[in-house]
Amino acid sequence: MCPFCFVEYEELEVDFEYEGIILRRIKILRCPICQEELFTPEQQATLKANFWQTQK
Ligand SMILES: [Zn+2]
Repeated sequence: MCPFCFVEYEELEVDFEYEGIILRRIKILRCPICQEELFTPEQQATLKANFWQTQK
């Protein structure tokens, strides 16, 4: 739930690019009012795992 708007986040899938690496269909949460976006804990773990792989 968004702490500013007091509404539930929407869940949506996006293509996420970070430092030239494109990760497809990353699930994020977005507030429908203020458009604040955040990753789920699950996705944070996925992102970290991906970035560590590419750095090796
Ligand atoms: Zn909000």
